[in-house]
Amino acid sequence: MTLKERYERIAAEVGDACEACGRPRDAVRVIGVSKTVDVDAVEEAIAAGVHDFGENRPAELARKHDAFPHERWHFIGNIQSRQLNMVVGRACLIHSLCQVSHADRIERLAAEAGIVQDVLIEVNDGEENKQGLAPADLLAMLEHCAGLAHVRVRGLMTMAPQGDMAKASATFERLAKLRDEMGAALAERGMQDVDLHELSMGMSDDYREAIPQGATMVRIGRAIFSENYA
Ligand SMILES: *Cc1c(COP(=O)(O)O)cnc(C)c1O
Repeated sequence: MTLKERYERIAAEVGDACEACGRPRDAVRVIGVSKTVDVDAVEEAIAAGVHDFGENRPAELARKHDAFPHERWHFIGNIQSRQLNMVVGRACLIHSLCQVSHADRIERLAAEAGIVQDVLIEVNDGEENKQGLAPADLLAMLEHCAGLAHVRVRGLMTMAPQGDMAKASATFERLAKLRDEMGAALAERGMQDVDLHELSMGMSDDYREAIPQGATMVRIGRAIFSENYA
């Protein structure tokens, strides 16, 4: 299969999965994670209809963004403070915010650039991954961000433990529940303006589990870009 055929198959499958759970066909955005490929493959993906790309290294995001500035570039990697200047303003969405100090740095950089930076808070509810904020710390983080004029939280992101679809599904279900709980807690505190609509969850191996649980974005690398992914 060509990249175009792989992408079209996934896009159709994502649309079908949305319909199967009573959601609009376009309720889930497919982000092509291009971190392992070069600009020629990005170009091929654009021609195939991919317009959202995910990168996990600031310098790579900057390089590819500057080569294709009209596409939407998502930062999905671990944040390192001194590299945030390459990401803020280039990324349409930073998926991996999980530290107050990083939120403050994004605020400063976005204010200097005269923009509002959209972000997701990455949550780690304890299994396997090290990256991400514990659910118990999430409300304080959301309250902190609500006080930053140039940082706009749009929702939550998570990574499921790999290799166990039942566990992945349960992880996604918990993230959706946590989002609802946080929305209610913020509203109770008079912060009903914080919009946590977006749920970035699901990758090549487990996006099928994420859609019925309410994913609004799936981050797919190998299943789009790799010829050997089965
Ligand atoms: C690499 C990566 C992906 C894509 O993984 P695949 O298994 O190749 O689909 C998604 N999210 C994050 C955070 C990643 O680092």
